[in-house]
Amino acid sequence: MMERILNYIGGELIAPESKEYMDNYDPSTGLVYSLLPDSDERDIRKAVAVADKAFAAWSSLAVEKRSAILQRIADLIDRDLDAFALAESIDNGKPVSLAKSLDIPRASANLRFFASGAIHFSSDANITGKEAINYTLQTPLGVAGCISPWNLPLYLFTWKIAPALAAGCTVVAKPSELSPMTAYLFSKLCIEAGLPKGVLNVVHGLGSKAGQALVEHPEVKAISFTGGTVTGKKIASIAAPMFKKISLELGGKNPNIIFADCNFDQAVATSIQSSFSNQGEICLCGSRIFVERILYDKFVSEFVKQVEKLSVGDPLEPSTNLGALISQSHLNKVLGYIELAKQEGGKILTGGTQVKVPGRCEGGYFVEPTVIAGLDHRCTTNQEEIFGPVVTVMPFETEEEAIRLANSTPYGLSATLWTENLKRAHRVSAEVKSGIIWVNCWLFRDLRTPFGGMKQSGVGREGGWDALKFFTDTKNICIRL
Ligand code: NDP
Repeated sequence: MMERILNYIGGELIAPESKEYMDNYDPSTGLVYSLLPDSDERDIRKAVAVADKAFAAWSSLAVEKRSAILQRIADLIDRDLDAFALAESIDNGKPVSLAKSLDIPRASANLRFFASGAIHFSSDANITGKEAINYTLQTPLGVAGCISPWNLPLYLFTWKIAPALAAGCTVVAKPSELSPMTAYLFSKLCIEAGLPKGVLNVVHGLGSKAGQALVEHPEVKAISFTGGTVTGKKIASIAAPMFKKISLELGGKNPNIIFADCNFDQAVATSIQSSFSNQGEICLCGSRIFVERILYDKFVSEFVKQVEKLSVGDPLEPSTNLGALISQSHLNKVLGYIELAKQEGGKILTGGTQVKVPGRCEGGYFVEPTVIAGLDHRCTTNQEEIFGPVVTVMPFETEEEAIRLANSTPYGLSATLWTENLKRAHRVSAEVKSGIIWVNCWLFRDLRTPFGGMKQSGVGREGGWDALKFFTDTKNICIRL
């Protein structure tokens, strides 16, 4: 019988109230390989009720004890690294090698980071001369709602729940229905690690049903969301009038700016990664490559040469660079953008078509890594997030023009700069309107640093103290001396 994913509510793995299940596809074969709960507001109500009940004991547990349980879960993830990586590759279509080297290790790192961070979290005190002492009391909010996307399923799921739990909140989480398996395996580890019942609850199902019910529930004090900008807008429109705390990590259309004085080999090699890692399904991928005119031809020729060496294929093969896109509809969306790019006057330098992988993956959703030139920066292809293995290349003449082009979309998540000129690196970083700027590197993360976007890429900052603070109420206490 096909495996059935279950909800994790009140410490138990249980069926949804509706008893209805949805198909869960393996994107590399196009076949259904498991079933997941089609949960609704009844499951959310149940989960919030048990989370609310568990809150008093969890929030008053010594922080060292909370931390030790989270560390134990991290140890169990490390123990089960291979099983998690395999499950994530099948569930999501990404190369198993990437899941094993990036996604799963980062999931346990998230837990460890916030587990130890909570122990070192301290409150501020301000001494107002000889007249008063002000101190800040930070208390856990209550039940937090965490909604995560499909592209880095366990990585982003743990990035949200770990600070919430470490800060003393209880959680109801809703992973994406497109890649639910690793959150399910994670639920099992929580039982094994002895996480008290009701502290974390995982409700699987559709965003429009289970996700929205979570956002609407009056007892959920905060919503931490990572996903698309359109969904983020909808969530904000529900949560803001209820005065909930919201953290929104949304889409990006990130510039990758290459100056002629860059370290050429590094810029090319890292641009391959920043364009096509995880099939381009990372919000931080650089999808618009701007190259200084005098380097443009050389860069584009070498870049395309290296893109053509990437192998698209079975994600379970260790040599595969790009696996399958998440779903048939996402495949259609990406192919649709490639067609649109052609209509907009773009020239496909390499790629541009669906790939038929022979054998077990012949029904999978594969696309060639695609590089497009000749488009104006204002066209739809260069304005909307494609979230697939598609990048555009454009020349620029001056530093000012590079900044203007970089800032020419409604998004502002991340940017990458390649230059050996230190002054220019500082100047351009200050002018590019993105929440994260990488100079001569990409996706290099220090979990203490604030993470989040400007403009339509999001509201709020995750990471470090910002994340722990988000899940607490802040109170100032003024004592008159
Ligand atoms: P979606 O916005 O479609 O979904 C994200 C999550 O929200 C899913 O769990 C989804 O459930 C749920 N959801 C959908 N509708 C609602 C609703 N009305 N109320 C509550 N929850 C809802 O994004 P994707 O899963 O497609 O993820 C890709 C997007 O995420 C990209 O745009 C990408 O840029 C962005 N992203 C941003 C990151 C960042 O840090 N800024 C990091 C990674 C991704 P369901 O799947 O069932 O629809």
